[in-house]
Amino acid sequence: MAITACPSCKKPISDKAPSCSHCGFNIGSATAEDLERKASLLRFQKMQALQNQSLLAILIFVAGFGFMYWGGVQPGDLQHNLALGAAIVGFVWYGVNRVRITLAKRK
Ligand SMILES: [Zn+2]
Repeated sequence: MAITACPSCKKPISDKAPSCSHCGFNIGSATAEDLERKASLLRFQKMQALQNQSLLAILIFVAGFGFMYWGGVQPGDLQHNLALGAAIVGFVWYGVNRVRITLAKRK
């Protein structure tokens, strides 16, 4: 008995199991076409999740920038440092997501 990845949820399952014990995906009756459709749906969902994360990262970046000077904050203030930190996190996160999207598209 070998362990394989479920085509639907990618969790480890037995290759003898007729259906996935995690998500209930019926492996026995799935055709190659079903598996391909499932795989492209998963790719699409992953891409959507990455794009949502990118959007969130941009929002954090912009919000961080806005709060850096909002309400007469001076450089060195706690709010300024926190806002700067948020802007940097947002910027780096966005960059990481761009790389992940590029890698995901290449597959
Ligand atoms: Zn599964």
